[in-house]
Amino acid sequence: MKQFKLLFTGLIAVILTFSAVGSDYDYVIENARIADGTGAPLVSGRIAIKDGIIAAVGEFSGSARETIDGAGLVAAPGFIDVHTHSEMITSKPEAMNFVRMGLTTIITGNCGSSRTNLSEFFQEAEAAGLGLNIGSLIGHGSVRKAAMKGIFMRTPTEEELAKMCDLVAQGMKDGAVGLSTGLIYVPGTYSKTDEVIALAKVAHQYDGIYASHMRHEDLRIREALDELFHIIRESGCPAEVSHIKLSGPTAWGRADEIIAQLDKARAEGLKITHDMYTYTASSTALRQVLPQWALEGKEEDFVARINNPATKARIIAEAKAILKSEGRDDYSHVFLARCIPNESLNGKNIPEATEIMKGNASLDHQLEAILEIQAGGGASSVYHNMDEPDLERFLRHPLSMIACDGWPLRPGKDVPHPRSYGNNARLLARYVREKKVLSLEEGIRRMTSLPARTFDLARRGEIAKGYHADLVLFDPDKVQDPATFRDPHQYATGIPWVFVNGEPVIRDGKDSGKRPGRAVRKGK
Ligand SMILES: [Zn+2]
Repeated sequence: MKQFKLLFTGLIAVILTFSAVGSDYDYVIENARIADGTGAPLVSGRIAIKDGIIAAVGEFSGSARETIDGAGLVAAPGFIDVHTHSEMITSKPEAMNFVRMGLTTIITGNCGSSRTNLSEFFQEAEAAGLGLNIGSLIGHGSVRKAAMKGIFMRTPTEEELAKMCDLVAQGMKDGAVGLSTGLIYVPGTYSKTDEVIALAKVAHQYDGIYASHMRHEDLRIREALDELFHIIRESGCPAEVSHIKLSGPTAWGRADEIIAQLDKARAEGLKITHDMYTYTASSTALRQVLPQWALEGKEEDFVARINNPATKARIIAEAKAILKSEGRDDYSHVFLARCIPNESLNGKNIPEATEIMKGNASLDHQLEAILEIQAGGGASSVYHNMDEPDLERFLRHPLSMIACDGWPLRPGKDVPHPRSYGNNARLLARYVREKKVLSLEEGIRRMTSLPARTFDLARRGEIAKGYHADLVLFDPDKVQDPATFRDPHQYATGIPWVFVNGEPVIRDGKDSGKRPGRAVRKGK
């Protein structure tokens, strides 16, 4: 018996010795102040990471394979951006512009445009080696294109609508977080409200959200919100107002009025959140300055229209009316980000580009130049169309989250909107540190737990035991967004560590080469 006891004790000792060879944790972060993502005040404490998961927070014992000194830094959950356009992520899977500004999870498939086969998309994305996690909405415009092939300026047949419903259902089964619409874009712009309700009902069967780039963001935004309220009342979905804004001088100064309209709908029981970027400029295709009917069909259809003098005159007259309704005399607020027919015009505004193209920058010449660019393949553009006080007012609302509306980029010669490089850093630098529009903890909540809970991203968006170890460490005094409108290809600074699923993608300020990102499916 005694011998047996000795053997048993010896065995225990051997086991203990073996477990001491490995460490208890992969990483322990110490000396950082912790913002847990819920908006709770900063606390001091340590964070342990093991196998991609936050294994302990606060006071705990145990050894680490690596200890990271976070002195002077704030540790926060990795930032989550619910509004990106990252369908092409496989071409830039590291998404370093995003990771460098602290993003660890992005949602794509916004504004009605997504891949229609999400299971395939998620597989391809993961196989490419992701620098961060990606989830997706299923896009109304994309399923509409797939079902209605060809002519979109009409209501779908019953059969086509059934096909669209099937595609939305399949997208939700494949893990989409909800349905998106882009009701200013072809082909979504041609849909009636009932069509959207039918699809939102399908998304609701899978507890999806309805995320909408609404029909109007100018003076008519009140109508657009009423349509959104109607859609979610009928379908049962919660709603996300994508990139909430007031576009054009005639709409400026109405943020309080719009927030009151939203809060009234909430008081009625509707669930509505919004996202926004931290800039007073938006970015979309140049073609959006034109009446949408002019763009129906293929490029050659557009060319045929502008070759017909009467049709061309109508396009120009309607474009001028749109411009006037926004309170503008010309297109000096529109800058070419990537001008397909003439890249040397990148970074110029429309009058500057017109001067070069036509030797005269009158409004008529500007429209000629726009039509010529569109006929030559079009351009992506930056629109300086918002007002700072409106932006700050929307930012103060507790249900506004921070999203860039951008995409994965590598430094290049085009001149894209700086939001894809700086959005989250700019929130922390300009709106938290400098203008004090939000407290640090609240700013972090808008980029972490609020998006994670709203879009049902399980165990993300908070620093808590059992959560995925998506973390950022940043210096609240130094975090900055050097990307500017003139010189956008500059990474955010002051964010020396970014962990994705427990592995540092940014390690001590440098790209570690690790690509631990995964596809994230709704609720998983
Ligand atoms: Zn949009």
